[in-house]
Amino acid sequence: MIDTLFPTTVIGSYPKPKWLNRVRELNKEDKFSDKKLKEAEDDAAKIIINEQERAGLDVFNDGEMRREEMVEFFADKIPGYRFYGPVRVWGNNYFNKPSVVEELRAPDPMLVDEFEFNRKFASKDKIIKVPITGPYTIAEWSFNEVYDTKKELIFRLAEIINEEIKRLEDAGARCIQIDEPALSTRPEEVELVGNAIDETVEGVNVDKTILHACYGKFSEIYPEILDFDVDQFALEFANNNFKYIDALKEYEFTKELGLGCVDVHKSSVESVKTIKENIRRGLEVVNPESLWINPDCGLKLLPKSSSFKKLKNMVKAAQELREENI
Ligand SMILES: [Zn+2]
Repeated sequence: MIDTLFPTTVIGSYPKPKWLNRVRELNKEDKFSDKKLKEAEDDAAKIIINEQERAGLDVFNDGEMRREEMVEFFADKIPGYRFYGPVRVWGNNYFNKPSVVEELRAPDPMLVDEFEFNRKFASKDKIIKVPITGPYTIAEWSFNEVYDTKKELIFRLAEIINEEIKRLEDAGARCIQIDEPALSTRPEEVELVGNAIDETVEGVNVDKTILHACYGKFSEIYPEILDFDVDQFALEFANNNFKYIDALKEYEFTKELGLGCVDVHKSSVESVKTIKENIRRGLEVVNPESLWINPDCGLKLLPKSSSFKKLKNMVKAAQELREENI
């Protein structure tokens, strides 16, 4: 799919222009039409696609300009879900937690328009990564008033997401990333998650399937995750100072590794030298051909200027290592 050593990419989200957030607020207050919101999202998507190209990334997207939240976005589109209103999740943070109130039915295409827009406005030699929230995370962050077990809900969601990935494949998508940030929050459920992921990618023939996970103890779900039917794991390392990297060395890492080498929780920009050192830690786990370079997670909570600088330094670090033959 890509010949370059150390392909550089993003996990997904990117800081939104402030005016886009304002337009969205006005739309919610019925002061701005849906058509105008769509125009604003298109404009923002074009700007971010351009910005990621300028950062020099090999694989990217529009930074999820049309998505506000990774579970809500999908639940809002799947018939059978309903929103009762925000619930408090921690401290003073609220989450618009969706409820399954009827058996879930097949949604209209959820991401095909977004992908096609990305494809149209990014250079042809670049690859578009399409992030999609995984069934386990959507189920875990939903109220379930219908299915007898969480497992049933997870597998119904896996079918729905599988269908969506096949639509994306038909539209020309080659690189799909399933986001399961909740993957390692319950290590005892790793087999269930694995079976759900296998169902999610069943019959899918894109060039690259990636599973992204963050904020977990990977040591507790390793090596079990190697059985999942995906090509690559994109994992968080920089934020916890590579705490779990040694655990990955205990068994041969038989997949590609998407190495989280810049921290998305700190706005200070890592130097090229630091990122190169981080990349070398990844090479302790996999050979150079199996290593992709990415931030720990989505960048949306960072200031926009830090995000851009972090990506630029990340690209430069990968480039220097290629030139130095590592
Ligand atoms: Zn993440």
